[in-house]
Amino acid sequence: MATDTIRATEDIAHIGKSRVYKNFIDGEWVEASTGETFENRNPADTRDLVGIFQKSGKADVDAAVDAAKRAFQKWRLVPAPRRAEILYRAAELLIERKEDFARDMTREMGKILKETRGDVQEAIDTGFYMAGEGRRMCGPTVPSELPNKFAMAVRQPLGVCAMITPWNFPMAIPSWKLFPALVAGNTCIIKPAQDTPLSVFNFVRTLSDAGVPRGVVNIVTGFGSKMGAPLMEHPEVRAVSLTGSTDVGRIVGETCARSFKHCSLELGGKNPMIVLDDANLELALEGGLWGAFGTTGQRCTATSRIIVQKGVYGDFVHQFVERARRLKVGNGLDETTEMGPAINKPQLETDLSYIEIGQSEGARLLCGGHRLEGGEYANGWFLEPTVFADVNSRMRIAQEEIFGPVVSIIPCDSLEDAIAIANNIQYGLSSAVYTRDVNKAFAAMRDLHAGITYINAPTIGAEVHLPFGGVKATGNGHREGGIGAIDFYTEWKSIYVDYSDRLQKAQIDRPE
Ligand code: NAD
Repeated sequence: MATDTIRATEDIAHIGKSRVYKNFIDGEWVEASTGETFENRNPADTRDLVGIFQKSGKADVDAAVDAAKRAFQKWRLVPAPRRAEILYRAAELLIERKEDFARDMTREMGKILKETRGDVQEAIDTGFYMAGEGRRMCGPTVPSELPNKFAMAVRQPLGVCAMITPWNFPMAIPSWKLFPALVAGNTCIIKPAQDTPLSVFNFVRTLSDAGVPRGVVNIVTGFGSKMGAPLMEHPEVRAVSLTGSTDVGRIVGETCARSFKHCSLELGGKNPMIVLDDANLELALEGGLWGAFGTTGQRCTATSRIIVQKGVYGDFVHQFVERARRLKVGNGLDETTEMGPAINKPQLETDLSYIEIGQSEGARLLCGGHRLEGGEYANGWFLEPTVFADVNSRMRIAQEEIFGPVVSIIPCDSLEDAIAIANNIQYGLSSAVYTRDVNKAFAAMRDLHAGITYINAPTIGAEVHLPFGGVKATGNGHREGGIGAIDFYTEWKSIYVDYSDRLQKAQIDRPE
């Protein structure tokens, strides 16, 4: 294996002072066959060019798939504990590089340093957790119904897997996909979101430095509209894992179904946080602000609906708005900033259009609603933290994923009413309830239609060793995180060993 291991060199070229990052295919850093590139700019200050990246096309995808197919023949035979040692080393390297990678990430997608450090940490945690699976990946060994016969099931890798990732967790989400796929013996091609290729470049570079052999992980950067079809339609790709919007999920799901590819979809959310009359209000306020405005509201698990019982509604709304107004918006590289910019101009325009929609629907705009301009905001995509109150749950701002710092507060009469409002939505990712009543907490845990429920915590904050994903339009039933990820990247093979030296017939040879 050592001869297959390459040390990454010449991964970056320069045009003037600008860095040009390359694709990584078959252990080589290469330019796209199209000869085209695209720019990655800092959303907090668009004068800051983070880097220039390859705008790849079908030929690049094909080259990456060929490399991954060849590499699979060796990688699948490396014992899983040995594969895990490389991943363990990658996690250690990520610890060493954490601060640099967090700064790169804040520059390329805007979220504050505290959160980008958390994003890299999530990749580290996933690396250690999944490396542990290298010595487990358990399957059932069961008694046979026949004498002198042995029965067991083992996990087998799928082969070449394609990963398509979003921009909001640019290292954590790639790690949720690559680490389990690799420990299970698959080879991979990752296509990062066009807004955040640098964080995936940093991650893949680290995997290579840790000793992942050539061709086992390949990165091909570019636009989903051009690269999606070649990746999803390639006959040698056995599985596609997408995290992204529900609209793109529908395209990916339909395309993969035509060639029976495994397909994991982690999609949008419109996550409710319920605050009951008996809640610790201070805790709920603090959690609500973090859930709604962390990552500028651009989390799939963002708290985008706060459903508040009437006894505390007035008090909660008043204090929530007061605190939202005081949040410090700015460049995430400044340690005192509490909320960064929108990821790009189209997202800012979407946020502003939903603010207009909310007003035209009759919701009460109590704070924010405007783009921040001039001074430190002059060259970025900044929006004020925005709060709507008296929102009716049928309004578009309460039904559609905005993916920005825009929160809808909805009044409710009771826990039952709150749960009905929470569930009346196409999505089902995360949910939260603030209450001191254990009976109500357990009823909510049972009745909320969501893949995740938090009690006395906001809708964000998943840990890597439990299943992550949602119900309804949030996904197609697979889970990332925890052992569920290994389930997606392996296929079961049941094995029967008959050592009776005679033909034994299951279901037929039985005592009368
Ligand atoms: P997006 O759907 O626009 O893009 C996601 C990825 O899909 C990108 O890499 C993009 O290039 C690619 N893509 C775009 N068109 C494609 C096509 N036709 N074929 C194949 N690939 C294509 O999403 P985004 O804006 O990057 O991320 C935000 C969305 O992701 C939100 O809806 C958010 O809720 C969701 N998200 C979900 C989770 C989760 O785990 N459920 C986590 C994070 C983000």
